[in-house]
Formats: sequence, structure tokens, C-alpha cells
Amino acid sequence: MSTVSTATTDEAVDTAVAEARARYVARCPRSAAIQAEAAKVLPGGNTRSVLWFAPFPLRIARGWDSILEDVDGHRYVDFLGEYTAGLFGHSNPVIREAITSVLADGLSFGANNVYEASLAAAITSRFASMELLRFTNSGTEANLMAVALARVATGRDDVLVFRGAYHGGLMSFAKGNAPTNAPYSFVIGQYNDVEGTRRLIDEHGPALAAVLFEPMLGSAGCIPATPEFLSVLRDGATRHGALLIADEVMTSRLSSGGAQARFGLLPDLTTLGKYFGGGLSFGAFGGRRDLMSRFDPSTPDALAHAGTFNNNVLSMAAGHAALTKVLTPAVLDALNQRGDRLRHSLNLTFAAAGAPFSATGIGSLLNVHATDAPVSSPADLAAADDRWKEILFFDLLERGYYMARRGFMALSLAITDAQVDGLIDAVGAVLSDRAALWTRG
Ligand code: PMP
Repeated sequence: MSTVSTATTDEAVDTAVAEARARYVARCPRSAAIQAEAAKVLPGGNTRSVLWFAPFPLRIARGWDSILEDVDGHRYVDFLGEYTAGLFGHSNPVIREAITSVLADGLSFGANNVYEASLAAAITSRFASMELLRFTNSGTEANLMAVALARVATGRDDVLVFRGAYHGGLMSFAKGNAPTNAPYSFVIGQYNDVEGTRRLIDEHGPALAAVLFEPMLGSAGCIPATPEFLSVLRDGATRHGALLIADEVMTSRLSSGGAQARFGLLPDLTTLGKYFGGGLSFGAFGGRRDLMSRFDPSTPDALAHAGTFNNNVLSMAAGHAALTKVLTPAVLDALNQRGDRLRHSLNLTFAAAGAPFSATGIGSLLNVHATDAPVSSPADLAAADDRWKEILFFDLLERGYYMARRGFMALSLAITDAQVDGLIDAVGAVLSDRAALWTRG
């Protein structure tokens, strides 16, 4: 491990952050001006918290293929991929064609349309555990509905979740139970803690409606579950009659049958979101026929599930075209292999430079961390110095590469091998420019 914590280095890191921010401020005056206007009508100029960063967030004017152009005219290769929802890039011709042909037939019918069952069939044919599903407008809604169904189906209240997990704006556990969370009775375990989780499930078993989990923690930094952890979840839920809910809003792209196919896991319910709408708003929850049939409106005492835009024609048609005409299993495999190559190469680059970074993840989803120690749970990141990631973020932005401020990347189909190589070279160049920061300790 690199040692970087001398007082001199500490000051030097602060200075480097300040300089990187100052250069960003100088390069992006239009972003700054629009942010100031936005702050008059939106709290902090923001309507989606994750997009904010100091000193002010980047504002994008347009995108095409894998490129974003900001309002000051700088171009970036987009390695963020709209936090996984941008899997198809910014201008996939097949999806554009689907959207324009739908537009020709009009919007907002207030009735069933010809697309929703086709998209549902395209999804259920890929996900072995999803016999029936229903659409929502977001992954947040999908998870709320899945938990609601689990509570009704089991007649129980408690939901086991994990510290660091993100299941949407109303079920966020980055720092424990967020004050804005839905008022469910959450039991919070530690991700990848096999023995502790087994104990927790047994302790709360009779009151447990559901175990809700991400097969790989996404927002918390692309931390994959271990096979032992996943089997404790599956066995524990079965043993106590709780429902196992796999939140695959992010991880569904890790194989054409999702992370669950990759890991050989059969959850009772699964939630989806992000790219399945072809880049438009989307969510879905589904699973066992006996559970999902509770929503069949033709049956007595059917559960209600509403949503004006659940079957909106744009998302349904774009999603169907995306899944049936673009995202073949072979295309998805190639994308995940490209991501694996990027992650491995970044780790080699970090190690060669002796820099205090590492990248975790699976396939096309990865996260750079400001530590070179192993990361198997959010607790392993507690001591990482966020300033390192801030420097890397701004330096890469300046070199024309965009990722999340927290170090997250999600490859889109529009990213080429040459662009992957370009990013690896740019990271190498940043590390060499900044070498004085971690070699002087
Ligand atoms: N679950 C996971 C694992 C997510 O990553 C997200 C979004 N980042 C959500 C749920 C919520 O999805 P949405 O933003 O569509 O509400």
C-alpha cells in the first residue's frame, strides 16, 4: 500500500484540489452562470442530488454517440453513461427510429397500447425468475412496489437491507436509514458479512417480509456480492418464508439474464430500471407468478398498482426496440468484456504508478476508489481520502473524459476500444503529472 499521509502531502493535496477547481471555474463560465440562474428556482440549482458537485456542476448542451458537449463548448467522452441508463449512447439510430415512429402516432392515449406486452415478453424471456411483471416510471417506484407486495404477501413488516445500498430516493442506506426514507421497518445488515447476516436473518426471521439486496452495491462503489453472501440471503429468506428481492436496476446489464443468471440465483422478485426504456424513464418489478398475480385486476381483491405513465408509449416502444434489435446477448457480453478490460488496465496503471487508487466492479460497471486496499464492503472505504478522487475527476474532465464525481463509470455501447485506450492513457498521464503528491511522503 502507498503511504501518503504526511503533513506536507496533506497540504499539497489541498492545494492540488484548489488548483483543479480553479481551472474548472475558469474553463466553464457558462456552466457557472446557468447554475446561478438555476439556483433562483431550484434548491441549490438542482433537481437530482447526485448531479451536484462543488464548486458547481457541469451543464451539458448536447450529446451524440459517446460524446457530451458542455455549454462552454468542451467535448467529453462519456464514461458515466447516465449512471447506467445510457447504455445505448446518446443517439442510437434504432432507438431514434422507434421514438420518431411512435411520435407519428400520437402520445398519451389513456388506454392500453400495442407495445407494453411486447416489451414485457422481451424481458420475461431473458429473466428466468420473472414470470410476470409490471411497469413503473422509475427504479425507485419498482422497489417500493416490490416491498409493498412482499409485506402484503407475507403479512409481515420488516425488510432486511444493507448499509451502503441504494434502492431509490425513498430507500437509501448510504449512511444508515436516510431521514427521507419510506417509513418501513428496516433491519440494516453489513454487505458481504456472511455470519452476521445469517444471524440477523435468524433473529428477525418471523417478522421478515423481505430481504432486499443489490447483487453488486452500485452507488456505494461497485462492490460485488460474494457467492457465500448470496447463498446466505437465498437460504435465509427461504428458511423463514421471507421474499428475496433482487434489485437489478443497475446490475441487470451484467448478463442478458441479469446478475442473477451470472450468479446462478433465483430471487422471488426482481426490480429493473435504467436502460430498459432505451434511455427514457423506466422501471419494472416482477417475479413469481403466484405473487405477481395478486395484481390481476380481473380477480377478486386484486391489489392496485397505479401510474399514469407506467405504459407510456415512448418508453415501451424505445425499450422494445432496444432489447430486441440492439441489445443481443452477444452485444452485451462484448460490452462487459470491454469493461473488464478497462478495470484491469486501470488497476495495472494505478499499481505501476504507485498511486493510491483501485477500481472495483464487474463488466461494464466500475468504480475508482481512493485506496489500494481490498474493498469488499462500504466500511473498507471509510478511510479513503475523497480529495484524491476529486483531483482525478477534474484532471480527467480537463483531458476530455467524463465520469461520476464519485468515480463511477458505466460503459455504453457507443464507447469504442480506442476510447477505452484513450481513457487508460489519460489516467496514466494524470498519475504521472501528479506523482509528486504521493511520492514525497
Ligand atoms: N436501485 C438501484 C440499485 C439504483 O442504482 C437506482 C438508481 N441509481 C435505483 C434503484 C433507483 O432508480 P431510479 O433512479 O430510476 O428511481
